[in-house]
Amino acid sequence: MPSQPFSRREFLKRNSLTGLSAALAPNLLTPQPQQAIAKSVTFSLAEPPALLGGKPVRTQQWPTWPIWKPETDEKQLLEVLRSGVWSRANVVTDFEAKWAQAVGAKRSLAVVNGTNALITALAQLNIRGGDEVLVPPYTFIGTVAPVIANGAMPVFVDVDPETFQIDPAKIEAKITPRTKAIIPVHILGLPANMPQILAIAQKHKLAVIEDACQAHLAEINHQKVGTFGDAGCFSFQNSKNLAIGEAGAIVSNNDLFMDRCFSYHNYGNPYGMASGVIGAGTIMQGTKQRITEYQAAIGLAQLKRLEGETNLRNENAAYLKAKIEQIPGVIPYKLYDNVTKAAFHLFPFRYQKSAFKGLSRDTFLKALTAEGIPCSKGYATLNNMPYLDDAFQSKNFQKMYPKAMLDFKSYVERNHCPNNDRLCNEEAVWFTQNMLLGTRADMDDIANTIEKIFTHADKLLTMK
Ligand SMILES: *Cc1c(COP(=O)(O)O)cnc(C)c1O
Repeated sequence: MPSQPFSRREFLKRNSLTGLSAALAPNLLTPQPQQAIAKSVTFSLAEPPALLGGKPVRTQQWPTWPIWKPETDEKQLLEVLRSGVWSRANVVTDFEAKWAQAVGAKRSLAVVNGTNALITALAQLNIRGGDEVLVPPYTFIGTVAPVIANGAMPVFVDVDPETFQIDPAKIEAKITPRTKAIIPVHILGLPANMPQILAIAQKHKLAVIEDACQAHLAEINHQKVGTFGDAGCFSFQNSKNLAIGEAGAIVSNNDLFMDRCFSYHNYGNPYGMASGVIGAGTIMQGTKQRITEYQAAIGLAQLKRLEGETNLRNENAAYLKAKIEQIPGVIPYKLYDNVTKAAFHLFPFRYQKSAFKGLSRDTFLKALTAEGIPCSKGYATLNNMPYLDDAFQSKNFQKMYPKAMLDFKSYVERNHCPNNDRLCNEEAVWFTQNMLLGTRADMDDIANTIEKIFTHADKLLTMK
């Protein structure tokens, strides 16, 4: 556990210098003389919590998501719509080329969503029934469902609570003769520890499929995530940092693998076969995962803003982190030393109720929300949900694995991840990426609000 820069007593003493009723100067928490800090003149720590009937810290809207600017974004989309060429063609190819360029990969293939990007990548790396695939439990179901869709068994590796990422030190203990692949997830848009993961994967000959569905343009040593493993998978679902509504992409430098992914996403027809060709001479088993031209036109419009937005999220996240890490019981994410940029799909911190007089995380979240700061407790534990037992009872799993491996109760015991349990059930708090597209004053509102709740924690304890 990192030591807090100030004890609770010191923190209160520092704040009391200004008096509780005085507006708290933001730079009391973090001296940033070069930054002009817009400050709500009406903010007062003495104001009762909004949850108890006080005036909320803020009532203004947060930046909305997705962003759509008709002046710049609609020209190509309208051209596509009016052309009648809606099925996969040149605009999709152009989007793929630009996405590959944006992340520094040789190739990119657009598919219907991030889940199917992972399904395709796993299938073309020959991950199938009887195999085990290492995954972190601190992720979205879209990481794990593709493992099961390919008939393989997910094996959960606990996370490092400081970074929220899969803990490299816990990987090797989970490797068995069945282990064929690992899916590092750059969860929340913060890069996983790829150098260490790659070294372990190399040693044990595991395929590495990066789930970068939340990590558009994040970097380790100036190399974009998604380009470290055998394949990188992205999502362009509505909430993601590049939003198309639904879509995804696979990136890789391996031509043979990408040719196979293309075929698989187009009924198993030969690589490069255009849409609408019938009697194509199907060469391999396939499915259908093509995106439309109008989705690609939306993606191209969003892509123009992605780098600027990502940089803004990084600036605001660093600013917010520096402010709130001074509040006792608030432990923001840590980035690995080699991270040169994160994506911040989410801004996470760990909430420790002991520093808030025992105030539960649920009440803390309610109190934040009431003050006009939307927030979430994030993921539930993925390593003990019924979907696993459902898979284990399927005909394919019953044929491919010995009975002992399919006993749900012992599976849950083998896959117990205590660090993840604590994040999911007790500590994690998230802010969403759109909030990080706001101003410094917006970040001040978040920090001030957490401080307000800290100050009034005892009164909030009466809430259920
Ligand atoms: C969103 C997401 C997925 C799945 O992407 P979809 O486009 O929603 O299918 C997979 N993994 C992670 C970590 C995600 O956040």
